[in-house]
Amino acid sequence: MNFSASKNRYNEMVYRRCGSSGIKLPAISLGLWHNFGDVDDFNIAREILLKAFDRGITHFDLANNYGPAPGSAEVNFGKVINKELSGYRDEIIISTKAGYYMWPGPYGEWGSKKYLVASLDQSLKRMGLEYVDIFYSHRPDPDTPFEETMAALDQIIRQGKALYVGLSNYDPQQTSEAVELLESLGSRCLIHQPKYSMLVREPENGLMDILEQKGIGCIPFSPLAQGLLTNKYLKGIPRDSRADKSHGFLQKSAITPELVQKLVKLDNIAQKRGQSLAQMSLSWVLRDPRITSALIGASSVSQLKNSLACLDNLGFSDAELSQIDTLMPA
Ligand code: NDP
Repeated sequence: MNFSASKNRYNEMVYRRCGSSGIKLPAISLGLWHNFGDVDDFNIAREILLKAFDRGITHFDLANNYGPAPGSAEVNFGKVINKELSGYRDEIIISTKAGYYMWPGPYGEWGSKKYLVASLDQSLKRMGLEYVDIFYSHRPDPDTPFEETMAALDQIIRQGKALYVGLSNYDPQQTSEAVELLESLGSRCLIHQPKYSMLVREPENGLMDILEQKGIGCIPFSPLAQGLLTNKYLKGIPRDSRADKSHGFLQKSAITPELVQKLVKLDNIAQKRGQSLAQMSLSWVLRDPRITSALIGASSVSQLKNSLACLDNLGFSDAELSQIDTLMPA
């Protein structure tokens, strides 16, 4: 398929500086954790990726294990980046990660240099790329000294296999330690990827302060809480939703009557703002200037378009924020 990106692709997206770095990221970035694996329809996946780029989304986030099968999201992304998007590589920030289980034996997960270096080599091969823009330690390893994990990230930058490195799922203390180790090696942490949404407010307890002090960007994952913070589950569990899929990470048990009651109230606040609940949830994450980008998922182009429209209303009144705080306390 011939693809020529829209000439207007940079007209509507908002770009935010990633901490104190030279990089700007789109306020909305797209992740390939779900919906881009071998179990999914490749044509829909490709359509979502191309539409995202056409709408100014310049950042795509992957990990070694995204699928299912693990690795297949990178293979599928590779097909698009090397075909339709091949002429646009320099306009795109691609990230991948290693930390979770990928292969058997003692070197197939966590934070050893052996695992991280081998995993990135595998990811590059699967995507057909010479380098990624950002490589993350996907989770802290309690059994490997941070010195080793950070030395691996530093080596990966020096080898040119990644331009920048990041941390994901590190708590405030682990983040400070890792960032200082990287600095002592002459490298810096570009970005941190924590779970953050109206439902999960943990990063407000220290992490975001540290990132701000250190000039590190913040890209929250699952800002829609995997779809909970949309109007999707207000009247039951729709077929083919993430909670309905056997390989989906969202458990049906998360959708309790108490939660649904709160979601209905949040939906009312969103409607009064002229937004869908998904849009308000994304605007809410982006209300804090320390957030560089909201890292969303989408299973269709229409969802992507709906989410992108959050950019039309990013401001909140004090009254709206306090209503949200009452329903979803920090
Ligand atoms: P979201 O919280 O954005 O959830 C995405 C899901 O919400 C979609 O698959 C869809 O569900 C539903 N949805 C999206 N937009 C809309 C809309 N406008 N209206 C209604 N429903 C909508 O993010 P994810 O949980 O998918 O995570 C995003 C990315 O974050 C991942 O792809 C990955 O890159 C990263 N991530 C990183 C982790 C880490 O440890 N570092 C962990 C998890 C994610 P449905 O499929 O049911 O249609």
